[in-house]
Amino acid sequence: MDGLMQPRPLTTAHILERAERLYAHKEVVTAGGERLTYAGVAANVRRLATALDTLEVPEGARVATFASNSRRHLELYLGVPATKRVLHSINIRLSAEHLEYIVGHAEDDVVFVDRGLLPRIWPSARRLPGVRYWVVLPDGTDTPLPDDARVLDYDSLVSGAEPFAGSFEEAFTLADENLASGLCYTSGTTGPPKGVLYSHRSTVLHCLGTLAAGLIGLCESDVVLPIVPMFHANAWGLPYGAMMAGASLVLPGASADPAHLLGLMAAERVTVAGAVPTVWTSLAPGLRDHDLSATRFLLGGGSAVPPALSETYRAAIGVPITHSWGMTEISPVGAIGGTRTQHRALAEDEQVSVRAAQGQPLPLVNVRIVDVETGRELPRDGEAVGELQVAGPWVAGGYFRVDAAASFTADGWLRTGDLATLGPDGYLRLVDRMKDLIKSGGEWISSVELEAAIASHPDVVEVAVIGRPDPRWMERPVAYVVQRPGGTATADELLAHITPMVAKWWLPDEFVFRTALPKTGTGKLAKSELREAQRIA
Ligand code: ADP
Repeated sequence: MDGLMQPRPLTTAHILERAERLYAHKEVVTAGGERLTYAGVAANVRRLATALDTLEVPEGARVATFASNSRRHLELYLGVPATKRVLHSINIRLSAEHLEYIVGHAEDDVVFVDRGLLPRIWPSARRLPGVRYWVVLPDGTDTPLPDDARVLDYDSLVSGAEPFAGSFEEAFTLADENLASGLCYTSGTTGPPKGVLYSHRSTVLHCLGTLAAGLIGLCESDVVLPIVPMFHANAWGLPYGAMMAGASLVLPGASADPAHLLGLMAAERVTVAGAVPTVWTSLAPGLRDHDLSATRFLLGGGSAVPPALSETYRAAIGVPITHSWGMTEISPVGAIGGTRTQHRALAEDEQVSVRAAQGQPLPLVNVRIVDVETGRELPRDGEAVGELQVAGPWVAGGYFRVDAAASFTADGWLRTGDLATLGPDGYLRLVDRMKDLIKSGGEWISSVELEAAIASHPDVVEVAVIGRPDPRWMERPVAYVVQRPGGTATADELLAHITPMVAKWWLPDEFVFRTALPKTGTGKLAKSELREAQRIA
């Protein structure tokens, strides 16, 4: 027997219209001091909707953004899916080759681009004949505009359009909740980038997941700063989550300058912020120079947060960095770290260890670990290490226009490529990415654990451990280390520092000191580049 409840669709249009109705006075702040209320944002979205009609962008067409975190980008986050088009946010740090592949593969109809980013994308325009319009988002720069009829100005386009007066949400039927709302490509470190196609339903459910109390728990009193770019897996759901909750949003623009970000956190009394560990590392030296007393929750994800880094934050501002584990394929948040009531009585160092875990799956997300060889499920005993697999309503079930059956199990779970343990209480602890694990003499070494140990030395700012081919052992670990200014640690000192923390055969064969380490387009340590450099040398 079916229930008798209203079969109403889940749609991102609700996020927009809820913020418009309930939180009209709340503000979006963009770096540079521009402030606009949600009422103002919604008014622009209503004009953007008819502007997209005027440009004859069909329903279902991909509308791309090539933009930093800003109020105009937020309007596109809202207006494109609310009108049943698909928002394709493009990583602004892609090579021209990947960029052209992605825009071509997605068949983007229109691209919205920050004015200051034009020089990065315009040279590709002639190889992307499918793009009918290039709409320029003013960003305070005066980058010259190409003299081309396809180039339009966002503000003129929006201000010149009539506002759509109806309800976006009411235009959706139950069948529409599975329509695509967004598209993000994975980084493509193995093979060409693959598109993850989110639906309205998956996006709304993920958004509610970010509101779950005790995990991230976004709420009306929050002031949310997504430092994580809006092109990196939907800025981890923070923009939609903040608007659904009625929180204010602070969008930092293009600059990743630590003083700029810390200044915004202090001036706007930011309560929640999210960034990759390399960004948190860059902010750490300035923590005590700013009033960050409003901060209640800092999210770190994309790669493992070294416990020493999290503890630096806890010591300086009383708030650790909490793990957010996810993937582009998981919308992206799958699990959130932190402690539960059962941990409160634990000794301090044991709590540090709990906080170092990737944490508990969000509601509706299921995780399991399986033996890589046999595919058999492994026990949740905190000891067995296996490939992490995920299932849930905001987890990808396929990729856009490619057959990627190998990424899924026969029963439909996503293979993450991560190795992990699961505790009896459901805590997830990542051991390493399968491709980063170092195989030495038939055993494995976790690059993540070695990095955490080395990063606990006070002179170490950043560290990446990779395997070096070795005729006897197959691979041996090599550590690339960046020291703080004035740091004097030697290889012998670092060895002595980590010897009590790891097995003897885990000790790196070499420490290579560098002034900086290569990063990926999303700010993660680019171990593949280090491996490549090593191969050539
Ligand atoms: P890519 O890194 O391939 O560009 P994603 O941003 O989707 O794409 O990365 C997902 C991967 O990032 C995960 O499979 C995992 O290896 C890593 N990751 C994400 N969050 C965390 C975290 N909190 N701790 C450790 N690793 C993480």
